[in-house]
Amino acid sequence: MNDEIQGHTGDTGPVGESGAERTARRDQAVRAAVEQGLLGPDSPIVALLDVTGIRESAAALRAAFDEVTAPGTPVLHAFAVKASPLVPVLRLLREEGIGAEVASPGELALARAAGVRPERTVLDAPAKTPAELREALALGIAVNVDNPQELERVDGLMRSASSRSPLGMRVNPQIGGGSIAALSTATATSKFGVALRDEGAREWVVRAFAERPWLTRLHAHTGSQGIPLELLARGVAETYALAEEINARLGRRQIDTLDIGGGLGVNFGSDATSPAYAEYARLLRETVPGLFDGRYGLVTEFGRSMLAKQGTVVARVEYAKSAGGRPIAVTHAGVQVATRTVYAPQSWPLRIAAYDGKGRPKSGPAVVQDVAGPACFAGDLLAEGQALPLLEQGDHAAALDTGAYYFAAHYAYNSLARPGIYGFVPDGSGGVAFATVRRPQTTAEIVAESGGAHAAALTTLREPGRR
Ligand SMILES: *Cc1c(COP(=O)(O)O)cnc(C)c1O
Repeated sequence: MNDEIQGHTGDTGPVGESGAERTARRDQAVRAAVEQGLLGPDSPIVALLDVTGIRESAAALRAAFDEVTAPGTPVLHAFAVKASPLVPVLRLLREEGIGAEVASPGELALARAAGVRPERTVLDAPAKTPAELREALALGIAVNVDNPQELERVDGLMRSASSRSPLGMRVNPQIGGGSIAALSTATATSKFGVALRDEGAREWVVRAFAERPWLTRLHAHTGSQGIPLELLARGVAETYALAEEINARLGRRQIDTLDIGGGLGVNFGSDATSPAYAEYARLLRETVPGLFDGRYGLVTEFGRSMLAKQGTVVARVEYAKSAGGRPIAVTHAGVQVATRTVYAPQSWPLRIAAYDGKGRPKSGPAVVQDVAGPACFAGDLLAEGQALPLLEQGDHAAALDTGAYYFAAHYAYNSLARPGIYGFVPDGSGGVAFATVRRPQTTAEIVAESGGAHAAALTTLREPGRR
């Protein structure tokens, strides 16, 4: 069942969904995690993934583009692996008809481990080595070339071997940024792609295509969280216009596929899904009608919008204290799972939900309080001055909408362990079934990954003649 495309009226307009069903599933899962011992005094932090929600999200994405594309248009939705670099997630998405966008050898290895086929994989990365390019071309993975020097490398590889890889060029339409500078990729000086408005750049791009019949795609990713829908659509419109210009000037339909990137923002302010994929797809059809008339195949690369609302970090309140009149809940979730929020709280506020010791939603008057993490610096706060039912010792604090870029992208500060990640579904008889996505990291693994096998490496390395 798919709320999003049935147009439930949430509080965000006709194509959003209120998220009430997802909230109910989450509440059930938190309680079950406590009951089943995934969360407790000795495992005080877990990450939970709503499998039903992930399937719904994938279905909503497919339906949104099915609605606007001409029948028979090839469309590849390639999930941006960096948003959730977890093999079981990639396998689940594969089953839902979603491919993978990868940007490092590690991400490519994850996609392959999940069984994502080369034809369903796209490699974008700003610093691909010759070896990475060679591997991608040998496998037949689509590659988007970032810059002139990379194009030269690909030229060399194409001379020495043939490849089934569809090859494209990433361009930066330089149309400006959104509210988060670090995630705005289409500014005048962004490090990504060929900067189209720089002097001579457009001509260079046209010539590059004219000289290389095997260059058949154009790619642009205008940015991520904080980019308004209209700006995303303009980025796509500019890319489409360039493809039309190149094909017209070459007198052949050499560019046959447009990769429109990802970047749909996520509403971190409530449980509603807004904007919905359907809204973006319709805006694209209005802004760039020619994109969908069947002349171009399409690739999308959504990340955050697919997974963010499907994930929750739940942490036990180890201590409840007070300082300067401010109640503070000291929990086990902080900078290691919410790095962006801790270092840039203005850009990345998170909602915290309060659950009691049994994992039941906590009620009571809203009290302005801080929710702190376990790391040893003052700024390690999941939330500062947030109003919610007073968290007490043994309660649980849940950081909502953390399914993308949060617990999946662990930050090893203070050698804090990566928490276990569990997928959940309602079990059909009022309970919840869990599956392990990633085991909690052990302290033995932390030692091993921190040079444990080389303990004497530095004491035995001596400069001759010195002591
Ligand atoms: C990060 C990234 C994406 C995904 O962005 P989201 O905001 O997570 O949707 C897509 N394409 C490229 C090239 C990226 O770098």
